[in-house]
Amino acid sequence: MHQSKNHTADLVVIGAGPGGYTAAFLGADLGMDVTLIDPNPNPGGVCLYKGCIPSKTLLNAARLVHEADDAADMGITFSKPKIDIDRLRAWKDGVVEKLTDGLGRLVSQRKITYIRGNAAFTGNCSLQVVSQEGGSQELAFKHAIIATGSRPTELSGLGKDSRFMLDSSSALDLRDIPQQLLIVGGGYIGLELGTVYATLGSKVTVAEFTNGLLPGADRDLVRVLSKRLDSLFDTIALNTRAEDFKVQEDGVEVTLKGPEDVESHKLFNKVLIAVGRQPNSERLGLETAGIDIGSQGFIKVDSQCRTNLVNVFAIGDVAGEPMLAHKASHEGRVAVEVIAGKNAAFEPATIPAVVFTDPELAWTGLTEKQAREKRLDFQVSRFSWAASGRAVAIGRTDGMTKLIIDTNTQRILGVGIVGTNAGEMITESVLAIEMGANVTDLKLCIHPHPTLTETVQEAAEMFFGTATHMYRSKRKK
Ligand code: FAD
Repeated sequence: MHQSKNHTADLVVIGAGPGGYTAAFLGADLGMDVTLIDPNPNPGGVCLYKGCIPSKTLLNAARLVHEADDAADMGITFSKPKIDIDRLRAWKDGVVEKLTDGLGRLVSQRKITYIRGNAAFTGNCSLQVVSQEGGSQELAFKHAIIATGSRPTELSGLGKDSRFMLDSSSALDLRDIPQQLLIVGGGYIGLELGTVYATLGSKVTVAEFTNGLLPGADRDLVRVLSKRLDSLFDTIALNTRAEDFKVQEDGVEVTLKGPEDVESHKLFNKVLIAVGRQPNSERLGLETAGIDIGSQGFIKVDSQCRTNLVNVFAIGDVAGEPMLAHKASHEGRVAVEVIAGKNAAFEPATIPAVVFTDPELAWTGLTEKQAREKRLDFQVSRFSWAASGRAVAIGRTDGMTKLIIDTNTQRILGVGIVGTNAGEMITESVLAIEMGANVTDLKLCIHPHPTLTETVQEAAEMFFGTATHMYRSKRKK
């Protein structure tokens, strides 16, 4: 949609991912005249088109396959699943379309001007939008929010034969199922996509440069997940660097340099690079507008999501870690409230993180490692799901709930959960931390039976040595 040359929008939002569209929608709800700009046909950004939603749709298919497999233990056997990759891809694309179309309708209902194209600042109150077809238009604004997100980090010096190399976006296209798949990077994106491909039939090798998967999470939680991944994946190579990518006729020969520089060479039909993401802060004309960029390309913002320009804000992945959709959308709301003159700030007590593997791994607040690094006086209380009635009933005792508790105040500093549905369970702990709850609050809060959420209550009871379903020898005073 084109606007008249003299039009000045109250708010222009650049990028329509979860950060940008949330901001645009709230701006419109608060009565602002809003323009939202993005190259995609509808809002959604990486999260809906190439991230959270397609990956979780495929992971749900993987879950079904595993559950059918696990049912053999209950005496229910299904024949080996036949996977029609075209229909699976169409199902995933349908989910994305349903959600992005829905967002498109919300744009119209809110009377937001949606412009398809790439925007770049031409001054501190103006920008230019270039469409895919090469046409361009100038826009004037009172306030702007930059929400241009991030893209996969590339490995330098890597052969870029697109027949064999994947990033998270192309991996989610699900063009084929490689027999041998190498995933470079043992972070959450690599492990989630590895779970999908291994379930669909690939032999998956994960090469992780550091000495553990999911470096941000506590090791005891990761151990529970690793146990299942060890049987799902062909190889998990830690302390291992993938290098020397030599393109062959039917794949890429890769050198894996392990501990003490021991090398192995292997041919992989596809290589997925999942070594992180970097902010989309280039080609935005930030220098022209005079907007400061900080370290690693993130746009510098204050606690109100404001850049060094009083009328320009930045939110989501482009404004810093953690690069998560719920952080982006929350920042989007803060930025718009500030623009609307409210006294708002982005100061969450905690931002939860979830890895949607099987089992899931979720944490919020401080990890045990962070508490130790901060030299806090804390205690850890763990409850194994082997003692949870619900976990036994559903045949998923591979789980653990742990609380990090301040020794002096008994406040909850952090919670980590590994187990099926951990991602759904973690929100209670987010609320507990936000509300400044202590371990007694979690103990006294009646959790419905039989649910996995009871493990949070029992972990709290463990702290006092009184968990009903697990004996703990008396605490020393
Ligand atoms: P984005 O979603 O990146 O959107 C930015 C938009 O800006 C894009 O549409 C882009 O095209 C547009 N844009 C860029 N430059 C311009 C320009 N110059 N002009 C106009 N438009 C522009 N997060 C979670 O919280 N949970 C998950 O389960 C999860 N899973 C993920 C799985 C994968 C495989 C990946 C890759 C990411 C996942 N993420 C997940 C991360 C999540 O997708 C991002 O944190 C989130 O999308 C960031 O939102 P955003 O609004 O900052 O930007």
